[in-house]
Amino acid sequence: MSRISCIFCKIINKELPAELLYEDDLVAAFRDIKPIAPVHVLVVPKEHVESVADLKKEHEILVGRLIMAAKKIAEQLGISRGGYKLLLRVGDDGGQEVPHIHLHLLGGAKLSENIRPI
Ligand code: 5GP
Ligand code: ZN
Repeated sequence: MSRISCIFCKIINKELPAELLYEDDLVAAFRDIKPIAPVHVLVVPKEHVESVADLKKEHEILVGRLIMAAKKIAEQLGISRGGYKLLLRVGDDGGQEVPHIHLHLLGGAKLSENIRPI
């Protein structure tokens, strides 16, 4: 999928609505439209990179920023002490549906571990 038709690029460019929680020069974060936890936020790079498998050496700072942004948002939303999960799905087997990297920040309740082959 090109950046032109990408829904997350459209959200970043404010062409599609979303509940934006955080933005800096490299990343943006908004609430997931179909939350699977009391807190479910997606942290995305502003640059259209389809998946972790497409990351290059030059993206190292960006990848660090994704995690640091998630940490800040968790603090802002009051889930930092209770804990949370950070999830990156990669490609088909990883269950990735939107081909623009997104770090899921999941929390607000104790969450199950349910990773096994289908
Ligand atoms: P994936 O399965 O690719 O890791 O996660 C994609 C996530 O994007 C899903 O949790 C889905 O609910 C969310 N999502 C898909 N379309 C939209 C949208 O238009 N807006 C928002 N805020 N989230 C979306
Ligand atoms: Zn995109």
